[in-house]
Amino acid sequence: MSQLALLGGRKTLEKADEALFHWPIVNDAMIAVQTKVLTDGNMSGTDISRRFEDEFAAWQGRKYALSHNNGTNALNAAMYGIGLGPGDEIICTSVTYWASCTGALALGAAVVFCDIDPDTLQMDPASFEARITPRTKAVMVVHYMAHPAPMDEIMAIAKRHGLRVIEDVSHAQGGHYKGRMLGTFGDVAAMSLMSCKSFAIGEGGMLVTDDAEIYRRAVRFGHYDRIADVYSDEEMKATKNVPFGGLKNRMHQVSAAIGLEQLKKHDDEIAEIDRAMKYFWKGVSDVKGLTVIYPKDDGSDKAGWYASRFLYDRDAFGGVTNVTFCAALNAEVGGGFSFGCNMPLHLSSVFFDEDIYGHGKPTARAFMPEDVDLRAESGSLPNADRVNGRVMGEPWFKHCDPARIDPYIEAVHKVAAHAEELLSVNDTTPIIGGIALSKRKGKASADNKA
Ligand SMILES: *Cc1c(COP(=O)(O)O)cnc(C)c1O
Repeated sequence: MSQLALLGGRKTLEKADEALFHWPIVNDAMIAVQTKVLTDGNMSGTDISRRFEDEFAAWQGRKYALSHNNGTNALNAAMYGIGLGPGDEIICTSVTYWASCTGALALGAAVVFCDIDPDTLQMDPASFEARITPRTKAVMVVHYMAHPAPMDEIMAIAKRHGLRVIEDVSHAQGGHYKGRMLGTFGDVAAMSLMSCKSFAIGEGGMLVTDDAEIYRRAVRFGHYDRIADVYSDEEMKATKNVPFGGLKNRMHQVSAAIGLEQLKKHDDEIAEIDRAMKYFWKGVSDVKGLTVIYPKDDGSDKAGWYASRFLYDRDAFGGVTNVTFCAALNAEVGGGFSFGCNMPLHLSSVFFDEDIYGHGKPTARAFMPEDVDLRAESGSLPNADRVNGRVMGEPWFKHCDPARIDPYIEAVHKVAAHAEELLSVNDTTPIIGGIALSKRKGKASADNKA
C-alpha cells in the first residue's frame, strides 16, 4: 500500500492546524471600537471614515484617500475618476478577479484583455502594448496574488501612448516595487479591504490618488453627503446634492473603525507572514517542479502573500496534475493547498456578447464603431489559457512558528517523493479556473473568490 494519505497511508498531520491560518487577526481594540460605533449609533456617519482616510493616505503616501463600501465600487469610482466613458477601451490582464474591470461596461467602455507573464502571472508589458488601439484610454494594472506588476515597463508604455493608469491593489496592500509603495505609481489606485484580503476590515474599499480632479469626480460619483466638499456653489445649487452616479458608496463606520486599528498593526502582520512563507519555501526549495513566485528586483516584495501562487511543473511529477497533487497534499495535512487561480476573463461572454442594459447589441460594443471586434483585439492569450493547469497555492501561514510549519514542509517532500503513485487517481479533466473546479468536485463553493 502507498504511504500517501490520499491512497490510504498515514497522514503527515493528524489534525489541521486551523490557528496557523485563522484570519483576520482580531485584537481587543478592534472589538472595542466596533462596539462603540454601534452603541453610539454612528454606523452611517463619515467622521471615523474621514479619520481612516487621512491615516490611510499618510500610510500610502498619497494626497487623497476616499473610503468605499467595497473594493468593487472603489475600482468603479477610479475608472469614472479618470474619465473612462462611452467608446473608450481599458486594457486589463485576463487573469484577475472580475471586479478589476467589469464596472467599465456600466460606464459605456469596453475591456480589452492582455496576456500575463507565465512566470510571474503579472501583466505582460509586450502584450499590453500590442492591445493598444486608438480608443484605448487607460490600463488597469493588477498586482496579482500579492506580487507587484512590472511597473517600470507598464508606466513607460502608458506614457508613450498617453494612457491613464489605474492600479488594483486588492491583493497587495502595503507592498512595494523597487522600493516604492504599490498604489503610488498610477493616476489612481483602488483596493478591496474585505475580510479575506491581507488588509481585512470587513466589507470595504479604498481609493487613493494625488489628483484633485480624480478625487473630486470619485466623490461626485457616489458620495452624496460629501459633495459639498468638492462642489462649487453653482454646482451645489444645480445638483441639490444628487450624486452623478446615482450610487451610494459610503463605507460602514464599523469597517472604518476597524481599519484605523488595522493600520496600526498591518505592517507587523505582513512582516510576520513574510517570515513564515519564506521559512516554508526555504524548507521545500530542494523539491524540483515546485517554484516559488517571488519578485527578483531589489526593494520589491510580496506583501501579505495574499492568495499566493507558485508554479507547478506537471512533467517533473510524471504527469500528475496540479489537481491531484493538491488533493494528495491536503490529504496529508487537512487542507491549505489549492490549485489553479482565477478563470481567465476573456472566456466570459459578459465582455463581448451580453446585452446587459438593453442597447439592442452587446453592451461592450454599445458605443463602438461597427467594425470593432473586441475579441480579436484581445487576441490569443496563451499564457492566460494555460495558467490554471500550471499553478498551485501554498498554505497561507499567518504566524512564523517553525515547529508548526514543518509538517507542511514534510508533506510536500512526502508527496513529491511518491508522486508517481498518484497516477492511478490522476484527475486530468481540464480546468478553466480553480474555483470552477471546486464546484465540480462537489466541495463548498467559494464563488469566484478573488
Ligand atoms: C477582492 C477583489 C476586488 C473586489 O473587492 P471587493 O471588496 O470584494 O468588492 C477587486 N479586485 C481584485 C483583484 C480583488 O481580489
